[in-house]
Amino acid sequence: MINYKILACLVAIAPISVYYLRFLLRKSKNESLNEVYWTNHLSNKCESDKCNLNYCTMYRNAQLKKLIENAKYSIDLAMHIFTSLELSDAILQAFKRNIRVRIICCNLQHGSTGSQVWNLYDEGIAVRFQKVNGEQLMHHKFCIIDGKNRVSVLRKTSEVGLKNEPNSILMSGSCNWTRQGLYSNWENIVVTSERKLIDSFEKEFELMWNEFRPQK
Ligand SMILES: [Zn+2]
Repeated sequence: MINYKILACLVAIAPISVYYLRFLLRKSKNESLNEVYWTNHLSNKCESDKCNLNYCTMYRNAQLKKLIENAKYSIDLAMHIFTSLELSDAILQAFKRNIRVRIICCNLQHGSTGSQVWNLYDEGIAVRFQKVNGEQLMHHKFCIIDGKNRVSVLRKTSEVGLKNEPNSILMSGSCNWTRQGLYSNWENIVVTSERKLIDSFEKEFELMWNEFRPQK
């Protein structure tokens, strides 16, 4: 004989259980992003970005673009040299989608004709350079997508709506966003969603952003 009370209870909690299960699945999926991409002597032998080889140039570059394209709120980029047309276009498209973009780069790019930074600056993107006469090079190559702390500041200033929690992503490694870096050198790029690491990179980005504030 069917116990209707138990059946009614099961029907009542089913939607909550499905919701919670989805939440758990999403959470575990978000926390599991930890990849490292390599470029080596094998990297240019593959001619498809449909593979998922972590040393394939095409695949790696397509993944980097996808991460930029999937940004929902913010992009903070610290890039020593930035001449890649394909990545600067991805950044520009993100900016046009109303993603808040900030770029920090090395002052050597002041005089570099191939640098994409000025084009992005001309489009209205916020750019800061390491101090012109500084002795230390801004040598970082990292990018934070939807940094949790950045998004929370943007929310406080009402620049972005209160939607879902951001899925923060960090990419960092040896690779400048240049043709040489993206297509020929031996390089590494780590892509991670590890909270603790991203927090630390966000702090360092803010520190530089303040340090490199233009002087009046
Ligand atoms: Zn491939």
